[in-house]
Amino acid sequence: MIKTDVLIIGGGPSGLATAIHLANLLNENKLQKRILLIEKGRSIGSHILSGAVVKPEIFKKLLKDKDFQQIPFDTQVTTDKTVFLGKKGKIKLPFHLPYMRNKGNFVASLASVCRYLASVAEEKGVEIYSGFSVNEILYQNNEIIGAKTMDTGVDHNGNPMENFQAGTRIYADLVVFAEGTRATLTKELIRKFQLDKDCNEQMYSLGCKELWTVPEGRIQAGTVYHTMGYPLSTKEFGGGFLYGLKDNKVALGLVVGLDYQDPTFDVHHVFQIWKTHPFIQKIIQGGKLLEYGAKTLPEGGYYALPKLTVNHALIVGDAAGFLAMPALKGIHLAMYSGMLAAETMCNALQKNDFSDKTLSAYQTTVKNSRIYKELYPVRNVRQAFADGLIAGGIQFAFQFISGGTGLRGRIYPESDSKRTKKPNEYKGKTFYERFKNQLDFDKVITFDKVTDVYYSGTRHDEHQVSHLKINNMNVFEEINIKQYGAPCQYFCPAEGYEIHTDKNGKQELRIHVENCLHCKTCDIKSVGEAITWMLPNGDNGPDYQYM
Ligand SMILES: Cc1cc2nc3c(=O)[nH]c(=O)nc-3n(C[C@H](O)[C@H](O)[C@H](O)COP(=O)(O)OP(=O)(O)OC[C@H]3O[C@@H](n4cnc5c(N)ncnc54)[C@H](O)[C@@H]3O)c2cc1C
Repeated sequence: MIKTDVLIIGGGPSGLATAIHLANLLNENKLQKRILLIEKGRSIGSHILSGAVVKPEIFKKLLKDKDFQQIPFDTQVTTDKTVFLGKKGKIKLPFHLPYMRNKGNFVASLASVCRYLASVAEEKGVEIYSGFSVNEILYQNNEIIGAKTMDTGVDHNGNPMENFQAGTRIYADLVVFAEGTRATLTKELIRKFQLDKDCNEQMYSLGCKELWTVPEGRIQAGTVYHTMGYPLSTKEFGGGFLYGLKDNKVALGLVVGLDYQDPTFDVHHVFQIWKTHPFIQKIIQGGKLLEYGAKTLPEGGYYALPKLTVNHALIVGDAAGFLAMPALKGIHLAMYSGMLAAETMCNALQKNDFSDKTLSAYQTTVKNSRIYKELYPVRNVRQAFADGLIAGGIQFAFQFISGGTGLRGRIYPESDSKRTKKPNEYKGKTFYERFKNQLDFDKVITFDKVTDVYYSGTRHDEHQVSHLKINNMNVFEEINIKQYGAPCQYFCPAEGYEIHTDKNGKQELRIHVENCLHCKTCDIKSVGEAITWMLPNGDNGPDYQYM
């Protein structure tokens, strides 16, 4: 058992900014309090994947000048272009799309930046423990009193083995949920306290990313390309990114909205096809894949934000959904929300009052902050694109000139899991029909999922309860497999779900938990939300280095 004043769950930019800012404020107010931050990745950064083009201003607010100078940003943006791809050709747009201007920003590995922020936090006395999954919220009389790390040393049925170790109960006056996208405990918290009452459904995208080293001279460090068009059709929302990094490295990826309807659509595969476009291939040809990973992004925006506080707890970053989709940026908002939460927490700690009434000052400061100013004008953008690129584009234009209201006012989207159609109801060519001659992966430019997974460094203990849980196997077989053709075998970017057909034609689901990249797509996209992504043992999962 551990007692702390503040427990922060998650060591991404939101959790680390919360910790640093709170430590600073407590120091200024001469208050001695214990801040504990727990991260499930092997080390800070292991589970961090982003683009990333980073806005630096928030780092200037958070850090002293000398610390700011040492942030391991890769390179300042020098060239910033949006490129429209046709099947073979391309047009570099002579203007910036709204919200996509990156002058003054930095390209970076967010994993590296987080490692640096963790070192700053530790210098300020924050205790950071990585390699532990926090998988239970502790309640007393319906109020949060802390959280517990996962029991380890259990077999696949959950029975204790010889090396059983009970998780640690951590009691805290304040718990900060900084778990990132489709956050597991936050999801429970939101449901229990109905924090999303009157909210829109959250909408997500899935981003697949690779890091390459390429021959000298292919791309300058600091070059930022965003692509639209091929291989996505007007029915899918998304685009590619390609960022030049120093030492001839390139970060490249494709982000696609999970509200697509084709049950056979496969984001990983379409990312591989995107790399074969002459514009991309010319840059990476002769290079070498270094890393692969995937992660979802919450894109529902302002109307999908839940209530941010309950007694003793606050939600920050992607866990709440602070992401400005039109700019593909969440890092600065995640950090900003953490800093505003820290200000409210400092006040609560001074008053020794952890009630929702006191903590809800955080909700008010968010409303009066830049976060609101960034999210409110684009509150209907992502939802409009559920109607396809053309209808969405027209609505976006009207929203842009009307301050966000557009033609329809508030748009209520369906959840991503409800958008998938049955194969016989889906109108249009299936994924396979569109790309059938392009799905041979040459392991030079294009990689199959299993090979790519190797480049994520992912690893999971063999002995533990499967963290990919089919909520009801009979229902899953009937609906997800028989009626929908098992979309999980396509949407998972790590081949976590395989449909095995025996010689009598009987289909069986095989789950490869060991491949899991913790992207949470299955929790979001399975029809009827039939799969629950649960936390595996700490220290398990990907081991991202420069993602
Ligand atoms: C492909 C892609 C490209 C992007 N590009 C950009 C970009 O260019 N610019 C930009 O500004 N933003 C970008 N974003 C968004 C940005 O990365 C996120 O908004 C940001 O990382 C959110 O920070 P966070 O701290 O809230 O969550 P995260 O960065 O996800 O961090 C959460 C951390 O919590 C840990 N955790 C979760 N649950 C638990 C638990 N129960 N116990 C212990 N630890 C836990 C996780 O392992 C993780 O380390 C991109 C995102 C993606 C996926």
